[in-house]
Amino acid sequence: MATGFMTDTLFFWHDTGTAALMLPADPMAGVQPDAHVESGRTKRRGFELLDVTGLLDEMRRVRARPALIGELLRVHTDAYVQRVAQASAQPRGGDAGDGFTPLGRGSAEIARLAAGGVLDLVTAVASENLTNGFALVRPPGHHALAGAGLGFCVFNNAALAARHAQIQLGLRRVAIVDLDTHHGNGGQQLFYDDPTVLHISIHEAGSFPPDSGWIEETGAGAGEGYTINVPLPLGSGHAAWLYAMHQVVLPALQRFQPELIIVPVGFDGGCFEPLARQALVVDSYRQMASLLTKAADRLCDGRVVAISEGGYSSGMAPWCMVGFVEGLIGRNGSLSDPYAGITAGYAAAPMLPHQQHVVDRAARLVPRITATVSAD
Ligand SMILES: [Zn+2]
Repeated sequence: MATGFMTDTLFFWHDTGTAALMLPADPMAGVQPDAHVESGRTKRRGFELLDVTGLLDEMRRVRARPALIGELLRVHTDAYVQRVAQASAQPRGGDAGDGFTPLGRGSAEIARLAAGGVLDLVTAVASENLTNGFALVRPPGHHALAGAGLGFCVFNNAALAARHAQIQLGLRRVAIVDLDTHHGNGGQQLFYDDPTVLHISIHEAGSFPPDSGWIEETGAGAGEGYTINVPLPLGSGHAAWLYAMHQVVLPALQRFQPELIIVPVGFDGGCFEPLARQALVVDSYRQMASLLTKAADRLCDGRVVAISEGGYSSGMAPWCMVGFVEGLIGRNGSLSDPYAGITAGYAAAPMLPHQQHVVDRAARLVPRITATVSAD
């Protein structure tokens, strides 16, 4: 049994245009043209690092294929899918919603390819051909809503994966553990009243989207209690994130008894990350993946499907990805993290009381979860 790996060169060709960070270039307003912060560069470097470190050879490749329109419509509205297609057919592309989700020419097809590849990876893992899997995709997905793109995200790959597992593969309970450093608002909103999908997000408080991902957001109706947020304060690092894994994520999974764990994972929690202010190190990602893998071994035959989201430090994010994949494969710590000497001080930083307080508050929500729900 192997770990599956799904990517496609076209993912790196999704063209987000020229920008300063995420601001579309506007020279007369002082926004100097540069590569958009969510360009193909960082993830291409991640792919290359997986290759050079030999991790690529240890995984079994799953080919991408375009998601069917019917598959997209399990999560997204028809009007939105059409709008994305129309914008991306323009010679210079367009935007998927909020003005900060650029579509280049052909981006609709590339986004469909990412989503479809994720679904096939889920199928391969659920059918026990593969133990678990990692999808390296662009555009990312976890901010995307039913009817609009948001924050660089076009189609919500993780949400589509959850619905695919339920509708196509007959799984009842799916857990989404969102480890991007920004709130997994898209998945939260799509499953807010649904007790068959447990949605947990650890993220930086008060970051993106604005005013989103607070502890008080716990689900609605039948889904009350099946949304958990751990909004960590600025500067939270390895100890705080691992504490959240141990106090919130693992016990919540134990109670929920998922049949599949989907992990939208951004590599934007690193201590050199330009779009967030957390202080994770490469080993943080390795350990989080390892914990999820072990939990999945106990709960659901090892079924974890991780899907790349953000990550914008072209130097460090690729190494965070490598650390995470190492944890997924179970080859823990055999590769030497070249940043370790520099980040040792960050990793050793103790969890501060106000960080622990947030995790402890979120942990109090865990006992509300039960495994009794089914999709029937
Ligand atoms: Zn992010």
